[in-house]
Amino acid sequence: MTSEAHLSSGATPDLHDLTVTALAKQLRDGKVSAVETAQHFLARAKSQAALGAFLSIDEAATLQQAQAADKRIAAGSAGVLEGVPIAHKDIFVTKDFPTTAGSKMLAGYRSPFDATVVSRMATLGAVTLGKLNCDEFAMGSGNENSAYMPALNPWDTTRIPGGSSGGSAVAVAARLAPAVTGTDTGGSIRQPSSFCGITGIKPTYGRASRYGMVAFASSLDQAGPMARTAEDCALLLSAMCGPDLDRDSTSLDVPAEDYSLRLNDSLEGLRIGLPKEFFGEGLSADVRQAIDAALKEYEKLGAKLVEISLPRTELSIPVYYIIAPAEASSNLSRFDGVKFGHRADQYTDLLDMYKKSRAQGFGDEVKRRIMIGTYVLSHGYYDAYYLQAQKIRRMIADDFQQAFTQCDVIAGPVAPTVAWKLGAKSDPLANYLADIFTLPSSLAGLPGMSVPAGLGEGGMPVGLQLIGNYLQESRLLNAAHRLQQATDFHLRQPSASKLVS
Ligand code: GLN
Repeated sequence: MTSEAHLSSGATPDLHDLTVTALAKQLRDGKVSAVETAQHFLARAKSQAALGAFLSIDEAATLQQAQAADKRIAAGSAGVLEGVPIAHKDIFVTKDFPTTAGSKMLAGYRSPFDATVVSRMATLGAVTLGKLNCDEFAMGSGNENSAYMPALNPWDTTRIPGGSSGGSAVAVAARLAPAVTGTDTGGSIRQPSSFCGITGIKPTYGRASRYGMVAFASSLDQAGPMARTAEDCALLLSAMCGPDLDRDSTSLDVPAEDYSLRLNDSLEGLRIGLPKEFFGEGLSADVRQAIDAALKEYEKLGAKLVEISLPRTELSIPVYYIIAPAEASSNLSRFDGVKFGHRADQYTDLLDMYKKSRAQGFGDEVKRRIMIGTYVLSHGYYDAYYLQAQKIRRMIADDFQQAFTQCDVIAGPVAPTVAWKLGAKSDPLANYLADIFTLPSSLAGLPGMSVPAGLGEGGMPVGLQLIGNYLQESRLLNAAHRLQQATDFHLRQPSASKLVS
């Protein structure tokens, strides 16, 4: 039974079937307390531990936050997210919970402060439900690079949920949390959202503060919400974004925005650009079919489809896999066993301590990227690789600006296929290639989102990707919301029988 059928039957819906918007209202209206809500979700998260969504849960810490929320509700000073449990990708540092970035390097690490995204949501009343599994340092496309455990796709537990925000997507899809945070460097909000049938948005680079996000590739990393509906994403994104100029030098000096205001705007005359490179040979037939059907819905809503070209789409893979490892190799040099993170037990001298700590603390994919990154930045290769990649990155961004002279929003698939089987892509290159449709907009710093658009092979969800021009998040959310009013893909959920009991 879908949540909608449940709601319309007149029965009281389970708390976990409510959207954030509906749950926040129930909390504000005193229909349910923040403590009851937290207890409900904690119990659910624990009962579905086998899905591998969470890396840490701390009941006492969550309940303490929930009690404080109940006090504010009673005092009439509730924020818009008061009492709503939100789980955070384990890339965001948190005072009350450990932060591992999915790595053994940070096992047991506790931050003395909260990431800006976490503290902003807490200021508005959100209660932290726990920390979510992810690929180590957000490097991966299937959550299989987590140093702790894979996360399983609740639609089919023999498949990956996507990555690197895999635990985040599992938590929302399996109704273990009403909403979560994720980060997207090259697709890590959009791709797992697509693979798990939920809605996720990565804002314009610089829109959400990176302060307190464990750094992977600083010129690409962005935070964003993942939830069931575009309406919820609008609420959450408004809570997360805004300038943080003193703490993140790349934070945009643009006032925070209420993304809920334009959700219902008409789509009459909206020009949707379809990049021909996103619909070529590499796209599997089942995904294509779902995307085509969603595009037909847009036509019914008054939008016009126009063919556009993003000619350097293929180059986004080599460009990203030079720039992201280059930045990662620099960012990860701070993990040397001295200040924080894993330190080897035995070593002969300082250099040996560095070497052993890093060899033991990092997993294979992270080491691979540090080596590639160090190589492309080294004397003699910098010009040949890194500089070339930077030049093409600029051209990719220019291609989008050219495209936006012909259309208002760009649409296409998020990924070439539905979620694959665990272990099916053991070759790192096979993972990299599957990022082809999310990398171009990441390199350009543009906002992008994934909206449930249908089901493909094996009954697995397919996400439609929407890409907007800089700071056009509200236009994306508007387009997504209108689609969600016309279709029910976002309401579908994995049948309970498929969940691990
Ligand atoms: N799959 C890409 C990578 O492995 C993107 C990851 C991300 O967005 N964090 O780097």
